[in-house]
Amino acid sequence: MKRKLIKGGYVVSMDARVGAGELDLLIEDDRIAAVAHNLEAEDAELIDAHGQIVLPGFVNAHMHTWQTALRSLVANWTLPQYFRSVHAGLATLFTPEDLYIGTLVGALNQLDCGTTTLGDWCHNNPTPAHTDRAIDGLVESGIRGVFLHGSPKPDPKPGQKHFSEIPHPRSEIERLLKHRFTSRDELVTLGMAILGPHYSTYEVSHHDLLLARECGLIASMHCAGLDAKTPDGWERLNAAGLLDAHTNVVHGNNLSDTQLQMMLDCGVTFSLAPETEMLQGHGHPITGRLRDAGYAPSLGVDLESAIAGDMMTVARMALASQRALDNAAAREREARLPATSTLTCNDALGWITIHGARALGLADRVGSLTPGKQADIVTLRADTLGMRPLHDAIAAVIMQAGRANVDTVLVAGAFRKRHGELVYDALARRLDELDVSGRRIAAGLDDLLAAY
Ligand SMILES: [Zn+2]
Repeated sequence: MKRKLIKGGYVVSMDARVGAGELDLLIEDDRIAAVAHNLEAEDAELIDAHGQIVLPGFVNAHMHTWQTALRSLVANWTLPQYFRSVHAGLATLFTPEDLYIGTLVGALNQLDCGTTTLGDWCHNNPTPAHTDRAIDGLVESGIRGVFLHGSPKPDPKPGQKHFSEIPHPRSEIERLLKHRFTSRDELVTLGMAILGPHYSTYEVSHHDLLLARECGLIASMHCAGLDAKTPDGWERLNAAGLLDAHTNVVHGNNLSDTQLQMMLDCGVTFSLAPETEMLQGHGHPITGRLRDAGYAPSLGVDLESAIAGDMMTVARMALASQRALDNAAAREREARLPATSTLTCNDALGWITIHGARALGLADRVGSLTPGKQADIVTLRADTLGMRPLHDAIAAVIMQAGRANVDTVLVAGAFRKRHGELVYDALARRLDELDVSGRRIAAGLDDLLAAY
């Protein structure tokens, strides 16, 4: 049995029974064996964590990793511009190799930033070859992931149906389960990235949720942005008994309080992308509305084509945006600020760890440093220019830390980053390939826009 001992760090376990403090952490093979004071294990490989904060690896619950080669192209586009230029435009130029390199480098970047679990919402799968290469990239990165298989959204050619009328391809899900995802114990597992009632007809939503349930898969869907295709779809799906803890809704800004409560009562999980929601025009993130209903969100980067990929920034954005709303509401209502902050850094760390794991159906394996769970662990250097003195480890992670603090990343007990360096040999070559891919795709933009 191979053992590793993380010694001398400040552990934030995100498990109330384990707690936080100057604890050591013993790893046996791919699992956390023990978290306790002064652990000794002479045969174990020592990971010296003095001056570091030891945390569960972050969970990025929602990202379109295939768009990595489009970095910053989308930064100044509104939602309608994004839909037109990316989904009906640039997405159509992607080859299977573009899917591979974008997904691989995007996932490596997640590991570098301390993310160990990625909800990879891949909705540019025009052919099985595209899908297979995207999965190849995700697997090669070494990250834990749920590959959420989705369909592309091109403009229909004459005689073709609009994407909102096309059911999720059953044959492709069956092929993937038979040939690519044969065990739930693999690091990368399958989920479905479906259109849902916001982006499809009721019949398509019903079909897709039923298919996901039949296959035992998470069904994730966007809800927000432009007008809903099927405004009463959520009520109808609820009446059909199709909403449950395997249903994951992304954004949700446009839902009424009644709809939100109905969905939460069914166990539906929510993944918010506070930064892209504020930038692109979805509306205010619903972090506080979920809190008022007794629930916590998971969070995602959403688009590296628009913003940076690290989850510490995403958590900080979610916290700041909701405190701003709460503070403004209190001033409006009572002409004064709330007596205490309405959400804390502890809440925010939960959104990018345990609640992310829950949204992806992986809370039994990751999301906290609980003995028995998978050894998905990140250590952050706290003995640095930007972090000393360390008064409050959790607040420091959410408010001060960034990629540069990420020292060590383990997925299933294996090193993915060590002493601040990514463990991946061919990175320079892969970045060159990403450049070539991105430049070729971006060069097509003028032609596409001229055609509108
Ligand atoms: Zn999205």
